[in-house]
Amino acid sequence: MQKRTLIIGGGVAGLCLAHHFTRRNEAFCLVDDGKNASSVVAAGIVHPMSFRRTLLSWNATPFYKEAQAFYKEIEITLKKKFYHPLKVRRIFSSKEESLTWQQRRNDKSFEPFLHEFSPEDESFGPYGSGCVKGFWIDSKVFITESLNDLHARKLLFSDTVTGDNFNPKSLEYKGTKYDAVVLALGYKHKEFPWFSKAPVNATKGQLLTVKWDNPELHTSLHRKAFALPISENTFKIGSTYEWNNTTLGPTEKGRELILKNVTSITSDSLEVLSHTAGIRPTTNDRRPLVAQHLRHRQLFIFNGLGTRGYMLAPSLAQHLSEAIIENKPLSEELNPSRFYS
Ligand SMILES: Cc1cc2nc3c(=O)[nH]c(=O)nc-3n(C[C@H](O)[C@H](O)[C@H](O)COP(=O)(O)OP(=O)(O)OC[C@H]3O[C@@H](n4cnc5c(N)ncnc54)[C@H](O)[C@@H]3O)c2cc1C
Repeated sequence: MQKRTLIIGGGVAGLCLAHHFTRRNEAFCLVDDGKNASSVVAAGIVHPMSFRRTLLSWNATPFYKEAQAFYKEIEITLKKKFYHPLKVRRIFSSKEESLTWQQRRNDKSFEPFLHEFSPEDESFGPYGSGCVKGFWIDSKVFITESLNDLHARKLLFSDTVTGDNFNPKSLEYKGTKYDAVVLALGYKHKEFPWFSKAPVNATKGQLLTVKWDNPELHTSLHRKAFALPISENTFKIGSTYEWNNTTLGPTEKGRELILKNVTSITSDSLEVLSHTAGIRPTTNDRRPLVAQHLRHRQLFIFNGLGTRGYMLAPSLAQHLSEAIIENKPLSEELNPSRFYS
């Protein structure tokens, strides 16, 4: 018999899961309170590198490819444009970093991602630069259009789920019993009584949209800050990392810090057009949380996407959808018990 799943939370986590259920013709509904604080704010940049260590990030090879194919497919389904190919340029901060990057060129695992060396690479910063393949998702379009699609198909409730209107034992919400319920609540997870031990931290981040007279620049630049070209002469620049901070608004301090850090990329003058802030759901080991509740076995958590939600969510949502639909085991690596066992 077909199962019916309730997804609570309409950020990139919950919505990627909803798209997987749609693909497989599975019954589901999604509830979102319309107060998204992370997925719509995100710059939406996806690339496979951890620049700090000049390494591929966790599971980057499969996750990057799956994310790319997933967003392209959803663009077709929704008939909306939000996927944008991107050349991502890392400006090196030391001679050592430049040498390590040269070594990576001889490493087969980096081959699918690194751009060929070009003479232009030398012209950035005192130590040169290197480019990697990537893309960016226009997060506002992806989230809004995905929610609109669910609304049009009568699969969306606009509501706040609490311990008062949802019962984890009966899995009942608004008079309907569900076979599985997924909590994809982002940093708000802590407000819920279930999976209370799952350590979802709140890491605030701020972004500026600026006018930068630089029509020739079509790559994103990354050093102490990043600059992402979103349309001619308009860039998103950011971001900040403010740990255990759940205040929602942008701050003057955040704006000053971004403008200071962006001087590692350019000394041009930038005109600030807008300033936004969000809260990333992070974990101490920078790995996501996808797991089944120990007592309420049909209750699942999908959280902890950290700074890379747009790359991780498509693959993890597929993994979770297979666990719910086909009873496949979830990876132990994703279980919050790793923090307390
Ligand atoms: C400034 C900034 C820049 C970023 N840049 C990037 C980037 O370039 N690339 C990238 O991959 N990632 C980026 N991120 C990280 C990315 O935004 C997160 O990884 C991702 O959005 C987390 O998604 P989520 O669905 O888990 O959480 P959220 O986006 O927070 O979604 C949770 C949803 O659940 C809803 N909700 C919560 N509680 C309830 C309830 N009780 N009832 C009903 N609904 C509820 C919320 O309103 C929200 O809509 C950035 C984040 C920030 C803040």
